[in-house]
Amino acid sequence: MIITCPKCFAADDVLPPRRLPDRLLQYRCTNPIHGNHEWLTTRDAVQAPSDVQEGVTDELLEPLSRCIDADAPFVEYGIVEHRLRTRFPDLFAAHVAEQGHSMFGPRAYTASSVRFGVALGRLERTGDLVSEYGPATGAWHHNGQVTYWARNPPADRRRTTWAEYCAEIGRSPQWTDQDRFGLRIP
Ligand SMILES: [Zn+2]
Repeated sequence: MIITCPKCFAADDVLPPRRLPDRLLQYRCTNPIHGNHEWLTTRDAVQAPSDVQEGVTDELLEPLSRCIDADAPFVEYGIVEHRLRTRFPDLFAAHVAEQGHSMFGPRAYTASSVRFGVALGRLERTGDLVSEYGPATGAWHHNGQVTYWARNPPADRRRTTWAEYCAEIGRSPQWTDQDRFGLRIP
């Protein structure tokens, strides 16, 4: 499928998409006539500009950056999000209240994709973090593939999955009523 840029209507400078959580794809066109332009698309091709998410993700950059340790294996996206929630509960709840979360059922443009995923992508572009794709486990399994994150990638590319992390901290790898407790959604 050929993807054209909604800004210059050409396909020549459109880069392969980045997969965000909850099946969202982020495309970028680097055509010099308009500079970098990013947009988000779902499978049903609803398009939303990604630049509108830039402002609302500013406050997430530093907290998310602190959820990825310096000398650690790549960690599955769900681990990063779980740490964000544990360490910055009000911030997490505020973004879920505005964009929803797949723990309440399938939904396009969740906080995971358009807020936390977009913010992590910004941290990758500034060189703070590195990501690669790997299997999505447990509650995130519906994504198929999901991003894994590291600050200094280990030489052996070691990974910790969400399911392994859940076993380690003694919680279910699926969503529970305890996860949903205290959160509001739009
Ligand atoms: Zn373009």
